[in-house]
Amino acid sequence: MTIALYPGSFDPVTFGHLDIATRAAAVFDEVVMGVFHTPQKNLLFTTEERVELIRKAVKNMPNIRVDYYEGMTVDFARRLGAKVIVRGLRMSPDFEREFEMALMNKKQAPEIEVMCMMASVQYQFLSSSLMKDAARYGGYIDDLVPSHVAEALRAKLAAPRKK
Ligand code: ADP
Repeated sequence: MTIALYPGSFDPVTFGHLDIATRAAAVFDEVVMGVFHTPQKNLLFTTEERVELIRKAVKNMPNIRVDYYEGMTVDFARRLGAKVIVRGLRMSPDFEREFEMALMNKKQAPEIEVMCMMASVQYQFLSSSLMKDAARYGGYIDDLVPSHVAEALRAKLAAPRKK
């Protein structure tokens, strides 16, 4: 049984992430979407919220499960027994960063392969951060994220931010 870990911040999950997860689930026996608990990013959603939003989105996909982790991605992959780390590659912004991260992961865990899947054409320019900016100013995001994520975004952005 080949388990693949698909790690990310997923703040929040978009159709671009779900496209990669679904395509990976057609290749591997099990895909674990691993929500990174403390990325060096200014997050909008808590870890529990990010996990819940993904769980709801993949509830009809039997071989995708969701969990969160702290520390190194390769250590989480080892704990899961995952042989593969899956990442998504968009046209311009991702390549150098993913290359660097893949080499570092390979150094830490030579037995784990990093496999990148090309983003589908309709999601090439979709990022959680840009989508959040659009949502913040009342922009149209309904074809970028599942409806429960759009609702969560509207609720979160309407509420005063906690310090
Ligand atoms: P991270 O902080 O780890 O980059 P993200 O949640 O931003 O986490 O992204 C997780 C993974 O999904 C990364 O490999 C990223 O390149 C990929 N990804 C992000 N947006 C898209 C998209 N629109 N299409 C395909 N892959 C994507």
